[in-house]
Amino acid sequence: MERYNADCLIIGGGVSGLAIGSRLAKRFENIFIVERNSSLGQETSSRNSEVIHAGIYYKKDSLKSRLCIEGKRMLYDYLQERKIQHMRCGKFIISTTDEETEKLENIFENANSCGVHDLKFDNSIKDSYPFIYSKESLFSPSTGIFDSHSFMNSLRNDFEQEKGTVLLGNECLSIESNGKGFEILIHDKKTKEKFILETKYLINCAGINATQIANSIYEEEKFKNKYIKGEYYTYQGKEKLNHLIYPTPTQYSIGLHVTIDLGKGIRFGPSAYEISEIDYSQSEDRKSEFHQSVQAFWPGLKEEDLSPGYAGIRPTLEGLDDFVVDVEDFNGAVIISVLGYASPGLTSSLALSKLVESRLVNYFN
Ligand SMILES: Cc1cc2nc3c(=O)[nH]c(=O)nc-3n(C[C@H](O)[C@H](O)[C@H](O)COP(=O)(O)OP(=O)(O)OC[C@H]3O[C@@H](n4cnc5c(N)ncnc54)[C@H](O)[C@@H]3O)c2cc1C
Repeated sequence: MERYNADCLIIGGGVSGLAIGSRLAKRFENIFIVERNSSLGQETSSRNSEVIHAGIYYKKDSLKSRLCIEGKRMLYDYLQERKIQHMRCGKFIISTTDEETEKLENIFENANSCGVHDLKFDNSIKDSYPFIYSKESLFSPSTGIFDSHSFMNSLRNDFEQEKGTVLLGNECLSIESNGKGFEILIHDKKTKEKFILETKYLINCAGINATQIANSIYEEEKFKNKYIKGEYYTYQGKEKLNHLIYPTPTQYSIGLHVTIDLGKGIRFGPSAYEISEIDYSQSEDRKSEFHQSVQAFWPGLKEEDLSPGYAGIRPTLEGLDDFVVDVEDFNGAVIISVLGYASPGLTSSLALSKLVESRLVNYFN
């Protein structure tokens, strides 16, 4: 079997692998991103709301909170500099009951304690969008939307300009540590050949698969996945929106919301329910429940106004509501795994890349 060497190898060509790759390519001459699909960003990075989150819900000092707030700033700057389409449209978070109004107050306090001071109680939504029912409303002006595919393409260009190599249609099958580094067995799906890439620095950004890859090298079930699926529907009715509208958060998500895309098309979602198998199909049985959730704040919405969109799966970890950047040292050979990287992972990606780099340089000699 052919064997090759890499200074650094990144498993996964979603937004996290691309952001980390584009930063680390400045440090390594011989760096690879290995992606099992025939194009980049086709899994969770294509199955989300494309919202630039403000960083208002997450627990103070958690990785989600820190990386989202820093990542939001870095992302807006990057999008501006590279002329990638985006819109700082802002979002309303609304309550429909007294209990939810209390939640709004908690969100306001949490955001301020995390350093996000631009939230305001603002009931102008009642005049702007009379078809939306709300008791009270918070407005977040720094929330936005962006073209995440152009963002990922731009990160790929950055990576390749620094002479990084992207291997598409190549799946990592297994990883062995040999005392000096890692031997990664890779299957090239096009040629049907297998080969080994050896590296001292391995970055595991395999999204929904990252937990399994990490556990395989630790030879124990150190982390356990909990998959929360979310479905989207697009709106076929006549109303127009210029802002995002979110209800208050639920157990598994920040709420089944209404977003606009850059062309001002309206979509609803994601819902949130636990699944045991990866399955991206839309379930017709859940449409009526979905419709009822939206009707709580958009009473006039008809079920026939909803057309099936797409589904995404949140790669969360059992018992932990945060991102994990796990570092393991095997005699100087280092694996860094990005785990539980659900929302706000798009927003946080550039800050994540900085964090991974700072952890990795501790091992350079
Ligand atoms: C429903 C939903 C809504 C969301 N909305 C938002 C939002 O509005 N804003 C926001 O900031 N974040 C949002 N997120 C979060 C965001 O989408 C994710 O955090 C981010 O896309 C994860 O990127 P990733 O690169 O870690 O994973 P992925 O995009 O899944 O990339 C991992 C890659 O690894 C590859 N891979 C896996 N195993 C192997 C292997 N063995 N060999 C080779 N390649 C492999 C996969 O093919 C995949 O391309 C949302 C997430 C979900 C699920």
